[in-house]
Amino acid sequence: TSETLENAHKVKTICFDKTGTLTKGELSIYKLYNYSNIDEKEILKIVASIENKSEHPIARAIVKKAQDEKIKLKEIKEFKAIPGFGVEAIIESGEKYLIGNKKLMLENNIKIENEKDEQELVSDGNSILFVSSNNKIVALIGVKDILKENVKEVIKKLKQRKINLVMLTGDNEKTAEIIAKEIGIEKVISNVTPKEKAEQIKKLKEDGIVMMCGDGINDSPVLARADIGISMGGIGSSSAIEASDVVIMTDELNKIVDGIEISKKTNKIIIQNLIFAIGVKILTLLLSLFGIADMWQAVFADVGTTLITIFNTLRILK
Ligand code: ADP
Ligand code: MG
Repeated sequence: TSETLENAHKVKTICFDKTGTLTKGELSIYKLYNYSNIDEKEILKIVASIENKSEHPIARAIVKKAQDEKIKLKEIKEFKAIPGFGVEAIIESGEKYLIGNKKLMLENNIKIENEKDEQELVSDGNSILFVSSNNKIVALIGVKDILKENVKEVIKKLKQRKINLVMLTGDNEKTAEIIAKEIGIEKVISNVTPKEKAEQIKKLKEDGIVMMCGDGINDSPVLARADIGISMGGIGSSSAIEASDVVIMTDELNKIVDGIEISKKTNKIIIQNLIFAIGVKILTLLLSLFGIADMWQAVFADVGTTLITIFNTLRILK
C-alpha cells in the first residue's frame, strides 16, 4: 500500500523470524538419538508419517529424509499442530505421539533425562525435535539449517542505517543465540509462541515503526501486528499473505533493503513535488496579482507544474 511505501524508510526496528527467513528453511537431520527399543528406521518412519501432515520447515526436513531412505509412510489416525510448540498425533496402533520443542514436553509433564545429548545438539547449532510417546522421550532429533547466502551482508547494510534488529523465534535460546551471533544480530527473543511474538511486536512499536519479516508459516498474527508485515518466499499460507503488507515471492532478503531505498526515494520525490507545485502556484498568483502575468499564463504554469511533478515521480522507477 502507499502507506507502507511511505513508512518503510522510517522503520525503527526490524524483526526477523529465524527458520525460513534468515535461514534457508532447508534443514537436514544432523543426528538422531534413539532411547526406545524400536529401531531407528521405525522411529524415523513414525515421525515422518506424522510430520507429513505439518507444513513447518522442520517437518519437511524429516519427511525428505524418510523419502531419501525410501521409507514408506504410515497412516495417521489423528493429527493436531500446536503452533510454536510442535505436533500431536495418534498413529495406527493407537499410540499417542508428541513431537516438538522442549516447551511442549514440559507442558505435558514429560521428564527430560537426556540433557547431555540435548546440550551436545544445541551447542552444535541444531534445533531439536523431542519425540515422545506414552509420556516418555523416545528420541531426540537434531536438525540443522543453513543461512541464506546474503544474510550477513543484508544485516550489515541494515545496521549501517541504524535500524534496531531483532531475531524473534520459537526455537530454544541457545540455538537462537548461536545463529544470531553468526549472522550479526545482537538482540534475540527466543522461546516465544506466535502469540507471544505478537506481544513483543506491540512492545517494540512503542519505540517507532516496526517491520516484521516472516516466512508466513504460523506467523500471520505477528505479521498483522507489525506496522509493516513482510512474508518471504511466497510459501506462506493465504492467511499470512492477507496479514502481510508486502509479499516477497523469492527468498531474497536484500529486497528488504531495496524496499527501504525505494521508500526513501519516493518520499523525497513526494516532498520535492509538493514544494515545487505550491511554489509555482504562489509565484503565478503573485505575478497575476501584480498584473505581470495574465490568467492564461497562470493556467499554463499550473499544467506545466503537473507535468513536471509527473516526470519527477517517474524517477522512482529508475
Ligand atoms: P520459528 O519459525 O521461529 O522456529 P515456530 O513458531 O514456527 O518458530 O516454531 C517454534 C518451534 O516449535 C520450532 O523451533 C520447533 O522446535 C517447534 N515446532 C513447530 N512446528 C513443529 C513441527 N511440525 N515439528 C516439530 N517441531 C515443531
Ligand atoms: Mg516460522
